Amino acid sequence: MTFHSASTAPPSSSPPSAATTNGAAHPPPHAFATRAIHVGSEPHLSAANGVSPAIDLSTTYLQNGVGNTKGYEYTRSSNPTRLALERVLASLEGADVLLSANLQQEGVDEATAWEGGPAALAFASGSAATATVVSALAGNGGHIVSVGDVYGGTSRFMLKVAGPLSGVQTTFVDMSYYGVEKDGEGIESETDEKRREREDQAIVDRVERAIRPETKIIWAETPTNPMLSLVPIRLLASVAARHSIPLVIDNTFSSPAFAQPLLLGASVVVASSTKYLGGHSDVLGGMIATPIPSLLSKFRFLQNAHGAVPSPWDSWLLIRSLKTLTLRTRQHSLNGLAVARWLFEVGVPQRLVRDVRYPGLHRGAHESRAQKRERELAWEHLSPHARKWVEQQGYRVDSPGGFPSGGMVSFHIRSGVDDREKLQDPEATGVAERFLEGLGLFVLAESLGGVESLAELPMKMTHGGVDPSHRASLGIDAELIRLSVGIEDIDDLLRDLETSLHHAVSGGSGKASQDGVEAGQ
Ligand SMILES: *Cc1c(COP(=O)(O)O)cnc(C)c1O
Repeated sequence: MTFHSASTAPPSSSPPSAATTNGAAHPPPHAFATRAIHVGSEPHLSAANGVSPAIDLSTTYLQNGVGNTKGYEYTRSSNPTRLALERVLASLEGADVLLSANLQQEGVDEATAWEGGPAALAFASGSAATATVVSALAGNGGHIVSVGDVYGGTSRFMLKVAGPLSGVQTTFVDMSYYGVEKDGEGIESETDEKRREREDQAIVDRVERAIRPETKIIWAETPTNPMLSLVPIRLLASVAARHSIPLVIDNTFSSPAFAQPLLLGASVVVASSTKYLGGHSDVLGGMIATPIPSLLSKFRFLQNAHGAVPSPWDSWLLIRSLKTLTLRTRQHSLNGLAVARWLFEVGVPQRLVRDVRYPGLHRGAHESRAQKRERELAWEHLSPHARKWVEQQGYRVDSPGGFPSGGMVSFHIRSGVDDREKLQDPEATGVAERFLEGLGLFVLAESLGGVESLAELPMKMTHGGVDPSHRASLGIDAELIRLSVGIEDIDDLLRDLETSLHHAVSGGSGKASQDGVEAGQ
């Protein structure tokens, strides 16, 4: 085997393609699970041929003569460990292949003329990645059309930082089929196809009504948090393209293991790596991926200028985490589906819970129109490798009970309070809190995406800072529980939920309501 010293490590301007690892000119592209393990970790890039990339802690690098570098000058601008992370992230989001195609179309020779680095950038947190995208695209006085139930930190940045500091304005829009359903019933004589068109058009109209001449970003998150409703990415991409506005998707909840929005027409993906990408609740990080050269250059400029980059240690932890992303997220999604089904099939009839939210859940005869459209959308959004695996497990879009679509599940516990308005009272969380405190295995904590199961009360925890009237309009109340289902043994998880639900709902003063809100929904 030839020894490749670290000196053959490429400068950021010419990331090697994973496909050339074995010397073949154009071997077929490797599958997602393979790329997650090998891209960025090619042994010949390490001084000792290590199969795990080195953690390069140097803050500065020798110059063999002024300006004569091996591609690295100062760690904030470029670091080998971070570069390895950026390469694997670009590969997993599908951004690297799309970038090559875009460069080719522009007549730029990637190997010699492209100095923009990999098609993904790593940040110190998801919030830093969000701030970078908003600052780069909305600039001074721009306008953002954002999905309504966007991550709290994202709306905080839009409204309380970009707003006052740069005159950026944001309009929040419900982009979901639930929103359309609330608007009115179907027309009796309508064919299914016509009805679909009308529902899609209703979402398009909502977004287009919000677009202004100065709109610079359409921002969506899917599934949303904490209600786990979906936003039709393809449909939004067509609106965005028609108006020449970049569509930005926060892909934190799906991760590229389950959804690759760039393949569905989004311009930019942002994510918090703190969640599924990291997967062990032990590293903070963020990322941006885009195949559009001009945007990539802007983001990279700001990455260096803001300086919110991850340390080499954190970059390495994430590289290590990504190697098991495929396995982890498969188990998360199998457990997530099992929990959602148990809640719907056992918890709802026993009047312990109502309104179970899980994108792939099939509620059979109880399914509403919006729920059906969401389920179909969850299937459409599965990235090609995820859909292949889901099908290999025997699931189809119409499988009874549903199909695996991630590890997040939300539901309302039945507290016995029948008045929806009273459920906005922070004093009304007694039963929900008894449930959360009675759990033995699920950890009562914020965040998500780690191997361990977590449970939380959005009203007082993750969404405690959201304006109460906005919170109410999103459906967040004293009964809403959000679960991040981990990869423990499913029987242990179900037993934990069952025991604590019975304890909370039938114990104490909060007797389960026998009427009030409709069973199932
Ligand atoms: C956590 C999260 C963020 C912010 O990421 P940090 O790493 O916590 O800064 C952004 N978007 C979503 C959807 C998140 O869940």
